[in-house]
Amino acid sequence: MNELRKDYLLNRWVIISKGRGKRPQDFRHEENREVKSKVCFFCPGNEHLTPPEICRVEENSEWIIRCFPNKFPAVTPEEGKLIENSGNFLTSIPAYGEHEVIVETPEHDKNIDDLSAGHIVKVLDVCSKRIEESMNDKKIKYVYIFKNWGIEGGASLSHTHIQLISLPQVPGAVQEKISASKKYDEKNKSCPYCDISNAEMKTKRGIFEDEHAASFAPFASRFPFEVWIMPKRHVKGIKDMTEAEKYSFAKILKKILMKLKTMLNDPPYNILFYFAPDESDCSNLHFHVEICPRLAKWAGFEFGSGIVINTMSPEDAAEFYKS
Ligand SMILES: [Zn+2]
Ligand SMILES: [Zn+2]
Repeated sequence: MNELRKDYLLNRWVIISKGRGKRPQDFRHEENREVKSKVCFFCPGNEHLTPPEICRVEENSEWIIRCFPNKFPAVTPEEGKLIENSGNFLTSIPAYGEHEVIVETPEHDKNIDDLSAGHIVKVLDVCSKRIEESMNDKKIKYVYIFKNWGIEGGASLSHTHIQLISLPQVPGAVQEKISASKKYDEKNKSCPYCDISNAEMKTKRGIFEDEHAASFAPFASRFPFEVWIMPKRHVKGIKDMTEAEKYSFAKILKKILMKLKTMLNDPPYNILFYFAPDESDCSNLHFHVEICPRLAKWAGFEFGSGIVINTMSPEDAAEFYKS
């Protein structure tokens, strides 16, 4: 019997459809991830083809991580009129902000899981530094960080990269998590994500954990093989994590992505970062990332109803990662 499951906190529902009898190998990705392009703008030697660099991390006087503005930005740092309201229902504000790219490695054929945990920690530090610098602009209310991998994951270039979009508002999906966390906290006097990771690590959905970080397949997974990773201690963002916590987090992220790559033939995915916006009075959102493999197509039902059908149960997905 299929189950209609609710997200831990949000009014977001999924149908876990176990009846279709799919095995993990049925989700193996068959398409080629390579995006055809003659010149890779992100490879060493082509630095002049990207907009002027914002920052870099070097090793032996060569860059190992590089950050620069996106050539085709979704938002721009141009001043505009703050709010335009026309009539009762037309609202717009300028798409103010910065759209940046962080290239995690100079090596074209590598991905995050090929990097050492120490290198991944350096990537996290660059993300954290860019968030803080963007937040210095008082007009910026949030910096959304994400990674697209593979064509179906939305990556237009095959060289691995992370993107960062700073916005003049906290995005709705983040705000929903913040509000739901606050409501839970008021009622239970604790952080829901601390409680969720504690509880889930004791279930069949728990995947990898160590002293500082935990990973599990969420109860109402929207995507086959979806995984959430979070520090065990309550932290609001990367900047609040100790070196040991960042290292644990990096090690688990690497393990999960490696497993995905080897077992499902390098599938496309998105990594979504959620942290508490800095200056917000009451936001105390627990930092976490969501890894969302893009192995199923959302169609009419998903887009229209907002309810997602997932044919891989999180219990089986967790089993797959641990196998
Ligand atoms: Zn490249
Ligand atoms: Zn917490």
